[in-house]
Amino acid sequence: MRTIGLIGGMSFESTAVYYRMINEAVRERLGALHSAEIVMHSVDFQSVVDLQKAGRWDLAAERLGAAAKGLERAGADCILICTNTMHLVADEVAGAVDAPLVHIIDETAKALKAAGSCRPLLLATRYTMEHGFYSKRMAAHGLQVMTPDDAGRTLVHNVIFDELCAGIVRDESRLALFDLIEAAKARGADAVILGCTEICLILDPKSLALPGFDSTAIHAEAAVEFALAGCETNAIAAE
Ligand code: GLU
Repeated sequence: MRTIGLIGGMSFESTAVYYRMINEAVRERLGALHSAEIVMHSVDFQSVVDLQKAGRWDLAAERLGAAAKGLERAGADCILICTNTMHLVADEVAGAVDAPLVHIIDETAKALKAAGSCRPLLLATRYTMEHGFYSKRMAAHGLQVMTPDDAGRTLVHNVIFDELCAGIVRDESRLALFDLIEAAKARGADAVILGCTEICLILDPKSLALPGFDSTAIHAEAAVEFALAGCETNAIAAE
């Protein structure tokens, strides 16, 4: 089994979900008490939020690049940045290491395309919805991403930072997110991307007005695919 390197802590609420999903998938696939080989660098999220607010993506790239290098030295065979937002600096992080970066946008795009979506609604932080790095990469996969209007984007951003990253899940916020999805459906959206790794804490992708694509689950599954490539065949051959 290959070792998965996680850059986590952004926030730790979602990294905990990654940890559980990856280990459960490995146990399910290999059976018995198998679990994943993982090395993790979990950062102090407030220090990253401060860099985001200051627009210092250059410093954030340096920090995450250094974390990726450390994970590689510790034996990671691949690197995951466990947040959509920080994929804004994914190219710099990927460039800091030899190990491949499992890219959350590419993996989400593959899942959307396999399901036949071409106009998904993106629910994410303001950085992810407005900076352009996300929609540009999706466009390269032939997907035209839609976002809520300005008030809707503010709402999603605030729910993420003021509630979900702080471990708070409110029914009122869930209903407000449902309204955004209904409005996007009326505007022609054919799917919803839970494009922030905490949104799965408040929305079940299977019970939405549109087909839901949870970036956390998709990213975690891609890591498991990478880690187990060839592994199950070997296990069967050894029996
Ligand atoms: N985890 C979130 C995401 O997927 C937001 C936290 C962050 O700003 O990194 O974008």
